Amino acid sequence: MDMKKFALSPVLAISAFGLFATASVFAQDVEIGTWAGFRKGAASFTFDDGAPSHVSDGGPLFDKYGYKATFNVVTSWNPDWNGFGNMAKNGHEIASHSVNHGQNMSGEEASSKQAIAGKIQQKYGIITVAYPNCNVPNKSAVLQNYIIGRICNGSWQSQPDMMGKDGPSDWAMASAIMTGSTGTNDFKGNMQKAVQQGGWIAFLTHGFEGKNNGSATYSPTPIGSIEDGLKWAQQNDKDIWVAPMGHVAMYIKERKAAKVEASGSGTITVKLTHSIKDNVSDYDYPLSLRVKSSLSKATVKQGSATLESKIDGGYIYFDAVPNGGDIVISGDGGGDQPPASSGSNQSSSSISNPTSSAPTSSQPGPALSSSSHRGFPNWGHSSSSSAGPANQSSSSQPSAFAVNGSSSSIGSPFAALESNKFDANPASAYVDASGFITVINAQGQNITVFNSLGHVVRTTKGIGCLQKVYSGAKGVYIVRIGNKAKTISIK
Ligand SMILES: [Zn+2]
Repeated sequence: MDMKKFALSPVLAISAFGLFATASVFAQDVEIGTWAGFRKGAASFTFDDGAPSHVSDGGPLFDKYGYKATFNVVTSWNPDWNGFGNMAKNGHEIASHSVNHGQNMSGEEASSKQAIAGKIQQKYGIITVAYPNCNVPNKSAVLQNYIIGRICNGSWQSQPDMMGKDGPSDWAMASAIMTGSTGTNDFKGNMQKAVQQGGWIAFLTHGFEGKNNGSATYSPTPIGSIEDGLKWAQQNDKDIWVAPMGHVAMYIKERKAAKVEASGSGTITVKLTHSIKDNVSDYDYPLSLRVKSSLSKATVKQGSATLESKIDGGYIYFDAVPNGGDIVISGDGGGDQPPASSGSNQSSSSISNPTSSAPTSSQPGPALSSSSHRGFPNWGHSSSSSAGPANQSSSSQPSAFAVNGSSSSIGSPFAALESNKFDANPASAYVDASGFITVINAQGQNITVFNSLGHVVRTTKGIGCLQKVYSGAKGVYIVRIGNKAKTISIK
């Protein structure tokens, strides 16, 4: 449980004459939900490369279910700015995936963001980036421009695939899992896992099978499997929070930094603040709060805005913006101030029979949670190594491919391996001009680099196009891709 509990001390009011001692005890517990709506887990769907099918098929699919996704565009690939702009207006997140989709986007951290900002206005700005070819660029430049940067499968880079309730251990290395022909199509199972573990799963999808994907040809995903996932999410909306990556990242950072206090007896005043400051975000995404109360009707206001609220199981639930002013809960059920519920027909208070309807709001904010929010699992945060993708030279995993054959029982491993070259495998490996062992066309295949001692110095996963996999000392290495291998020298 990641609840912040603040209980007021009982206050004793004693009449002037001391004849009657009236104890007015009010201990208002106020808590921030680990996830929006006090749901149990979170899921983000991210789409790389700015494919035409993301506009024609992806956005409409999510809109159909009332969910919003993240679309990472390559700004020099002429994405459909109008189409993505309309999606942004509809609450989707349009985010960065570099300017040119080079091997590594270092140097394009700020310019890719500016290129999107010149085309599309967004409520929360451009706050997330997904790296081309899974390669982490300049981390400090990433974090000066974005609140979170996304790699590919965490397990390809020594990270867990699923993030915990506090997000990634390194905000420049947020994990996702690849979907489609070289990944998983089990959206439901992965979301169930997020719910069970109280974590955050991010999906990384390119194009869709049989659709117009433009340059996003890698690992196409059957769109029907995404739809099945969204159907499951809708049916389990009380448990799983589906929201764009940037929104979930804001929520986590705000929740971790937030201070919340409640005071008062008849009218309760809640102060929700944080002091996060950077040049990327205002961190003004609404947090979900609940305050213990015996009220059967209540109005919740922040500033002049009436917040949508629900009463359930002895709590008042509502979403409020941190640093947005005092939140005032009054028990008059509306009283003299009609709810300013911005176009919603729904009364602001006392929804005592919550349903588990899907979020239907077109606002990017989280849907107010419904139904029962209790029974949280104990989330055991699995700490993760923050080791970078390379330099895993501490691994002492023995290999059968010792260069000198000393530990090999299969004769010269080179002979065996090289007789089994990349002929039937489109993958190849070479050392590029800057001394990087570079692999091409290895999509979906396991890549292992061994040093001359037979030690594993790098493991990763093929991503389809050209990828630099290792840079190290001069010497002989073996690069294994799938079940094929090749010797190579860094000179
Ligand atoms: Zn890409």
